[in-house]
Amino acid sequence: MYGEIKAYLQKELNSIEEAGIYKKERIITTPQNSKIKVNTGEEVIIMCANNYLGLSSNLEVVEAAKQSLDTHGFGMSSVRFICGTQDIHKELEAKIAKFYGTEDTILYAAAFDANGGVFEPLFGPEDAIISDELNHASIIDGIRLCKAHRYRYKHSDMQDLEKQLISAAKQRFRIIVTDGVFSMDGDLAKMDEICDLAKKYDALVMTDECHSAGFIGKTGRGVPEHFGVLDKVDIITGTLGKALGGAMGGYTTGKKEIIDMLRQKSRPYLFSNSLAPSIVGASNKVFDILSTTTELRDKLEDNTKYFKDKIVSAGFDIKAGDSPIVPIMLYDAALSQKFADMLLEEGVYAIGFFYPVVAKGQARIRTQISAAHSKEDLDKAAGAFIKVGKALNVI
Ligand SMILES: *Cc1c(COP(=O)(O)O)cnc(C)c1O
Repeated sequence: MYGEIKAYLQKELNSIEEAGIYKKERIITTPQNSKIKVNTGEEVIIMCANNYLGLSSNLEVVEAAKQSLDTHGFGMSSVRFICGTQDIHKELEAKIAKFYGTEDTILYAAAFDANGGVFEPLFGPEDAIISDELNHASIIDGIRLCKAHRYRYKHSDMQDLEKQLISAAKQRFRIIVTDGVFSMDGDLAKMDEICDLAKKYDALVMTDECHSAGFIGKTGRGVPEHFGVLDKVDIITGTLGKALGGAMGGYTTGKKEIIDMLRQKSRPYLFSNSLAPSIVGASNKVFDILSTTTELRDKLEDNTKYFKDKIVSAGFDIKAGDSPIVPIMLYDAALSQKFADMLLEEGVYAIGFFYPVVAKGQARIRTQISAAHSKEDLDKAAGAFIKVGKALNVI
């Protein structure tokens, strides 16, 4: 039986490889940090992790995870509503709500699940979901699982959003959905204008803060804080798998009735295992840290400016944005791959992105800055970019 599909899969895999888009995985042998070792034994500076605040191997966070193993065990072997809710799960949900100033929070095994499970319990065929065309795959999938009418607006195009809102006026409820920070360009959603339009056309607002929670905004409350509209956003989703320790897990936070309905009906919550106690204990520590000091997000902001200045003054094109995602534009797909390979030889780990991950002719190396980077790391990384850039006639 396997013969026919095996041949088919082999052929498909070959064509992926021939198209140059076969994804290979480099193997890391150390914890995630500003410098890591790959399996060739070399130590390299990592410039492409979502470890924005350097919490992935923060000692306090690791220690909190260990303590939770001792006090709360290894696994839950249950979904939340059967026997998968511990005191520390409730503590974490309360801490996240307090952090955002929202009414309640619900945890998921991943932000992919938070986005996958948020629409279907809340919206039906009478309703409208109005989504930025560049929203994350998990939002797109979540919308697919829901029977509401779908409207898509051009990326961050407020005129088009208004047009879609007008078209959706006939529906019962409307919700505008956007990524807070768009991960490929590092640009921020225009949350203030989105909230204004939402008010004008009687729509809810949801933002996915996966690439902004903990560091965008003066106190790290994310893109709504950056634009001064934290109280105007109805639903926030986020991940524990990026800046907030980087293990795994996601959350949805917002109004009490919304969260309550998700607990009753959200399928990835009802039919998937509870977050492991060690992750929950460590995440409680993460929110304690972020609620008491802005030191890490301040350092990240400083590091980002430092690196951007070096790269721009060397003559590279970057995508301008207010986030620690710094896409260094090369435009050509093959060049981006060659560039990344040569960077690795110089001790810098970064990845080239090209079509279909980004638009045709928009190939780039996407760098992501971390609070864990020292100035020396950033000097060395920028130096490697300059050396390779000159060798390949980019600058
Ligand atoms: C990473 C990411 C997710 C998924 O987060 P996980 O917790 O890893 O599932 C969802 N949305 C956006 C915008 C992301 O960047």
